[in-house]
Parts: sequence; structure tokens; C-alpha cells
Amino acid sequence: TLDFHPAGRHFLQIPGPSPVPDRILRAMSYPTIDHRGPEFGALGLQVLAGIKKIFKTEQPVVIYPASGTGAWEAALTNTLSAGDTVLMYETGHFATLWKKMAEALGLKPEFLGLPGIEGWRQGAQADRIEARLRQDREHQIKAVCVVHNETSTGVTSDIAAVRRAIDVAGHPALLIVDTISGLASADYRHDEWGVDVTVSGSQKGLMLPPGISFNAVSQKAIAASKNAKLPKAFWDWTDIIEMNQSGYWPYTPNTNLLYGLSEALDMILGEGLDNVFARHQRLAGACRAAVRAWGLEIQCADPALYSPVLTGVMTPPGFDADAIRKTIYENFNMSLGTGLGKMKGGMFRIGHLGEANDLTLMATLAGCEMGLKLAGVPLGGSGVVAAMDNLAAQKSKPVLKA
Ligand code: PLP
Repeated sequence: TLDFHPAGRHFLQIPGPSPVPDRILRAMSYPTIDHRGPEFGALGLQVLAGIKKIFKTEQPVVIYPASGTGAWEAALTNTLSAGDTVLMYETGHFATLWKKMAEALGLKPEFLGLPGIEGWRQGAQADRIEARLRQDREHQIKAVCVVHNETSTGVTSDIAAVRRAIDVAGHPALLIVDTISGLASADYRHDEWGVDVTVSGSQKGLMLPPGISFNAVSQKAIAASKNAKLPKAFWDWTDIIEMNQSGYWPYTPNTNLLYGLSEALDMILGEGLDNVFARHQRLAGACRAAVRAWGLEIQCADPALYSPVLTGVMTPPGFDADAIRKTIYENFNMSLGTGLGKMKGGMFRIGHLGEANDLTLMATLAGCEMGLKLAGVPLGGSGVVAAMDNLAAQKSKPVLKA
């Protein structure tokens, strides 16, 4: 138990789970129904159709009652066989965990990337992927795996460029992408970018609690799954896609999270996907203006790849980022993301995703600024003022519907 009693609503400003809107919490409180009954089939068909719009795909999207890690495993076990070489890209902590999983499953991951923390400040470099694929004349590499929005750093990767790299190398490898923290916050196009499996989760841009996750698949991925030899049972797409035709699952799905998904789809599609993306860009831009005004460094070193979902803030030498986070938590009842892996203690992460708006961002930045001051971090100026000025100057106001 806490030895203090914070008043008011907790500010959950980690880059997922993101705050769950009241509308979604209420929708999830409806009674659980028979997952073989007629009402359920209608719900199933509705969410399966709606989620395709979010992935921008006409192809099946498989929904698992699992966290994102399960959907990672599903993507690999459905398409690959023991001993297959997979080309993965080290963009940060989550890319590293996915590579460890590939090893545990008996795959042979090759990990491209830059040494030290430099690689954790950049996205996946398509030219390096292309060069490696060109060398692979015998097509030993069966899949290229990239994280679209690296949640540990706040750096995105250009998935369309990775697709082009695979195509110009004339290589048949599957393209498997993790957009667990990007979906419904950052522009994503499963079909247009020719992605074979897209992995995502519920607790980020979809504004749901953790507990369901996704594989959007291509026909090429489905064809690969017929010959893939890694053991799979629960994760096997075949029966799920078959039963999904009528809105059902082969096992007991997560009914109440599907109510929540239905509500989230209404909210996101009601606002309009492009408006949702523009809102995230607007808030991310203002957040970066604050970080610059404080005189602190943004983790992402390439402005073309700034994440609209979160901003990684590097703390100056001598200041432990986790101690600053603790100060902020204890004084302002706000949670910020910790530095993961190589960045432990050296950065904190500000989430500005999901139900975020101008005022939630301003409150978050005020909490950060007050906490940085309490922690004695010398600041160059007021990030709060800089962010307000930035928001006022930005033209990308949300489009109001009549
Ligand atoms: N990949 C990315 C990019 C993530 O951000 C996360 C979780 O934050 C995961 C994978 C793992 O997902 P989960 O924690 O839901 O299993």
C-alpha cells in the first residue's frame, strides 16, 4: 500500500497502457454473453469488419485474447519453420525482446543495427536491409521483422521504405511488422505497404485495457502458414479465420474486451482516422517543443522519425531518470514511462497517445516541469510555455463534424 493518498485522477502518461476512456469502461461493463449465441456473432462480425479499417486492410485480422507478446509469437509460429533465418532490426528494447523470442522458438535471427545506444536513436535503415537481402542469393532469409513504433525510444521506422528495399532486392522474404504501440495513433497501411503480418495490441492507440492483440495477415502469409513447421496450436490462424467468417472463435474469446473494441472503433472512426493521426502529431510536436525549451535532449535523433505516440527524454548526466519519475509520481500522481534496457536510468518517456488532448498534454508537461525542478535538474526555460505557444501556432486543428 502507498503511504500517501493522492487526490484526483491518476495521470497515466506511460506509452501504453494508455488511459481507458469512460465510454469504453462503461461498454466493457455490459453483461458477458454466450459466445456461441446469436448476439455474439453480430458483435464478432462488427469488430472484425471495423478493425480492418484501422489496419487499412481488406484481408483477415486475427484477434487473440492475449497481450502483444502472444501476437508476436503468433506471427512467427504461423509463418516460419525451425532453423529459418529471419532478418530483424535493432531499434530498441522491444525489437530486442522480439529477437530473443525468435531465438527461443528455434529461429535464427540476424540482428542488424548500430552499436551502443546510437541504434536506439534511429529507425530501421532500409538500405542496410536491402544490402543484406541482395547478398542472400539463396534466399535463406525467410522474413524481415521490423518494429514500426519503437515504444522504448520514441522512434518510428519507415515501413514503406522497408517494403521497397525488399522489392528492389527481388527477395521473397515475408515482411512482418510490430505496430503494437503505433496502431490507431500513427499512420499505418497494412495493404498499401505490402506487409505480410502486422502485429498489434489493445492497450495503446486503441485505448483499451491490455488483453487482446492482433495479427493482420496477407494472402502470402496465409500461404506460408500452410507449410510453416514451427509448432502452433492456440496461435494457429486456420480455424480462427474459418470461424471468424460467421463472427465466432474456436475458443472462448474475451467478450468484454470486444465490447470495448466496438466502442473504441466507434470513437476512432467517428473522429476520423486522419484526424486521430493529426491530433497525435500536434501533441507530439508540442511535447518536443517543451523538451527543447527545458534544454533536454530528445531520444530520437532523426526528426523524420519522431514518434507521434511518445517522446523519449534523455536526462543529463548525474540525474537518474527513474529518481525523477519517482519524484513526479509521489508529488503529482503521474506515471511516466521508465527507460528500458540500454536506456535504464538515462531517459523517461512521455506518452501522448489515445484519448490525449491539448489539456491532458499541458497537465502532463506541467507535472514533468515541476518534477524536474524538484529533482534539481537545471532547465533552460519553461517547456509548458513553449508547448502552449506551439499548440497556438499549429494549424492542424481537429476537423469539427457538423
Ligand atoms: N512490442 C512493442 C512495440 C511494445 O510496445 C510492447 C509493449 O509495450 C510489446 C511489443 C509487448 O506487448 P505486451 O506487453 O502487450 O505483451
